Amino acid sequence: MWSEETPSLNNQQYQLLQELGRGRFGTVFRCLHRASNRLHAAKLIHKRHLTDSTDRRCLQVEPKAMTFLSPHPNILQIIDTFEDADTTTLVLELCQRRTLFDRLSDDGALPEPHAASLAKQLLEALAHCHALGLAHRDIKPDNLLFDDANNLKLSDFGSAEWFGEGVTMSGVVGTPYYVAPEVIMGREYDEKVDVWSSGVIVYTMLSGIPPFYGESVSEIFEAVLRANLRFPTTIFRTVSAPAKDLLRKMICRDPSRRISAQQALSKFIFY
Ligand code: AMP
Repeated sequence: MWSEETPSLNNQQYQLLQELGRGRFGTVFRCLHRASNRLHAAKLIHKRHLTDSTDRRCLQVEPKAMTFLSPHPNILQIIDTFEDADTTTLVLELCQRRTLFDRLSDDGALPEPHAASLAKQLLEALAHCHALGLAHRDIKPDNLLFDDANNLKLSDFGSAEWFGEGVTMSGVVGTPYYVAPEVIMGREYDEKVDVWSSGVIVYTMLSGIPPFYGESVSEIFEAVLRANLRFPTTIFRTVSAPAKDLLRKMICRDPSRRISAQQALSKFIFY
């Protein structure tokens, strides 16, 4: 609920309602835009939780990237930002509180047509980002939300980075199960890191298990670096050959041979 601690949201314009969830830097609330009577989400980020320059960069990049990418049907829309000395507030399109991560944790694997529909929406969002020269760099199920009509919305652009013709990126960002091998190797990399992560998500949606698994972060990294992609028959028996072929092209160790988001989208003409 609204409190003295949250002065950066314009109290005249918005009424803060119940909490929807908590992330690394802040808390997300449902909020009401008084004039229009429309519901949105408000993400309140307390600056004291941002401990280093990387955290502070996240806070600057997220609204900038979201504004730059808007509007797109599969990218979470940013509606407003407020700032005071202690807090930055992002007013966002309201989604369901359950992310793809929650759905996969609760329900396990999805039927292929459902997984394909979500994969297509994710690739639509990615192709848009990449066409505008922005890599997300932290594609994972926790960052995939759903609106009331169950449309997928890519969110959390705090790790995003601009790239360009011949301009590569560096720095270890991402989340162990989903991070591309070239990132772990500390190499320069390009926007194809997002295609790898999306391939890992599609694999997990189809099977209920991640393709590269380990008991610790270093074991997961070792498995990612080996990139030994397998389709155990018991689990993948019902998954189509074109779906497995697409996964091989997305979860390809060599980024120069890895399919682009736009090329991957062209495989979905039948869905
Ligand atoms: P985040 O700080 O972005 O990681 O968000 C933390 C949690 O808040 C998420 O896991 C969701 O459950 C919820 N959440 C974030 N953004 C929204 C939104 N726009 N609409 C509804 N729930 C959200």
